[in-house]
Amino acid sequence: MAAADLAITDVIAHPLSCRLPKPQRTGFGDYPVIEIVLVEVRTDAGIVGFGECLGRAGSVAYAQAIERILKPVLVGRNPLDSQALWRTMQRKLSGRSGGMLIEAIAGVDIALWDVAGKVAGLPVHRLLGSMGRARVDAYASSINWYDDAQAEAETRDCLALGFRQIKVKIGKPVKDAIRRCELIRRVAGGDVKLMTDSNWAFDVDEALAVGDAMAALDYWWFEEPIPAENVSGYVALRAKTKVRLAAGESDYTVWHARELIERQAVGVIQPDVARSGGISETRRIADLAHAFHVAYAPHVGWSGAICVAASLQLAAAAPNFLTYECMAYDNPLRQALTTEPVGDSRHLIDGQAAVPQGPGLGVAIDWDVVARYRAT
Ligand SMILES: [Mg+2]
Repeated sequence: MAAADLAITDVIAHPLSCRLPKPQRTGFGDYPVIEIVLVEVRTDAGIVGFGECLGRAGSVAYAQAIERILKPVLVGRNPLDSQALWRTMQRKLSGRSGGMLIEAIAGVDIALWDVAGKVAGLPVHRLLGSMGRARVDAYASSINWYDDAQAEAETRDCLALGFRQIKVKIGKPVKDAIRRCELIRRVAGGDVKLMTDSNWAFDVDEALAVGDAMAALDYWWFEEPIPAENVSGYVALRAKTKVRLAAGESDYTVWHARELIERQAVGVIQPDVARSGGISETRRIADLAHAFHVAYAPHVGWSGAICVAASLQLAAAAPNFLTYECMAYDNPLRQALTTEPVGDSRHLIDGQAAVPQGPGLGVAIDWDVVARYRAT
């Protein structure tokens, strides 16, 4: 069958839920359980593509959105027309693009790119026009906002895994955040790149105080210092602080990212492919950032293996890619969902993560794991 004749025959969404062996603690709160949706797009050629979207605390609802809202406009269409399908799916949302539906679209869009790669017999990064990267720089994410002894032990663990870039969660009060920055710099030494992530913990004045301390300690970036909605706050902060600002994981589309990018509010943009409309929209965000000389660093967080694989494909293709968020803690949905681990902290080479080179996303699903973690 010629590729031009392909048609989507079914879209199946698998809601998954998993209790983490060690809960993440950020300045925002604790995350003991994660939920994602594995999306399966089937075609009449027998080629099946896989995608993933965030599920937050409601993966069953996300799966229903995919099967009830998106599937009816996909079945019968050519999966290779991914840009036309993105627009068709977007039009199922009346109103400003964002939220759950854009996340649901992300899951489908990633699966469509997986199909396209499998049809072509090429990894997605080559379909995108690759930078030819077999490996990409990776940073450890993240030292938890627990007590000093745990933070120090976690930092030593990350160094032992070979990381040369480490992110540190910080929160209120300001003096504790600064003390944590000092501690981790002491433990890591002067040559390791360090960054912080406050997950919106501060207001502009507080963030300014923390940012000044970080600059003095030679930190690399300050992530989500203030709430994502406060774009003018980012602009004000950028004008006053020496430390580079990073944000974007809380936004959905290129139009949201545009506010941060064209106002030069951040030096690093961090879309999450499982939230920001999939590979198509994330690529548009990375390209827009490139036009404004802003770096692109994929956000992965507590997503699963398909999000990781898609992020690595984008990382290998984006000219302005900076570094990949490599989670340093156990998560079965990331480490066991595919038959081979992908982008895993236990398999770094000189602090870098390997880019899957097989067709599509370059991964295969372990269906026993899907069954084990199915949400109901
Ligand atoms: Mg973050």
